[in-house]
Amino acid sequence: MERLFRGIHKFHGSHFKKEEEFFRRLAMRQTPEVLFITCADSRVDPNLVTQSKPGDLFIVRNVGNVIPPYNAIKDKNSVAAALEFAVHILKVSDIIVCGHSNCGAMKFLYEDESVLQGLSHLKEWIALAEPVKRHVEQFYPDISKVQRERITEKENILEQLRNIETYPFVASALHEGRVYLHGWYYDIGKGDILCYDPMSDKFERMPPQTKDNG
Ligand SMILES: [Zn+2]
Repeated sequence: MERLFRGIHKFHGSHFKKEEEFFRRLAMRQTPEVLFITCADSRVDPNLVTQSKPGDLFIVRNVGNVIPPYNAIKDKNSVAAALEFAVHILKVSDIIVCGHSNCGAMKFLYEDESVLQGLSHLKEWIALAEPVKRHVEQFYPDISKVQRERITEKENILEQLRNIETYPFVASALHEGRVYLHGWYYDIGKGDILCYDPMSDKFERMPPQTKDNG
């Protein structure tokens, strides 16, 4: 905690002081264009990897970047609340589901029951991603444990993209071209983000951006 307290003072005394005008304007309103849904994992930092600023990303984080299907949780679904906020009020143009390498949540899917014994909330939450495990076991029967982890992390991103579409207001926004969906995979050790390409059905490296196309 000491380190965080020191950080707060450092932030206020240097970064904030230099950017005071930016923060004063930011305090008035937020206008993010992107809803960024990712894992609670401490190694994933959306602003760092996208080199974006406060105000750029409306961020939802939870264990395993899971979007419960529309009917899976009737109420008190915080992801659904964030989706409504982002789509209806902030009117974001893009929704990114960003999974990552070495995801502990995805490993839990294959753990023995006893590992999550007494952790009922975690167990129920992880169970929302069970279809991913079933899919991987069916379509990739002969792979190593490490390969299975990487494939599960990626398949989970695709599953959550499908889950988002079960929300009628998101489905309408997609249909009307008001919102675009993206699946990203953050490789922590390589510092790389791969983007799902529906044409190739693969996670591909993003092409380098030139000044012309932003
Ligand atoms: Zn994770």
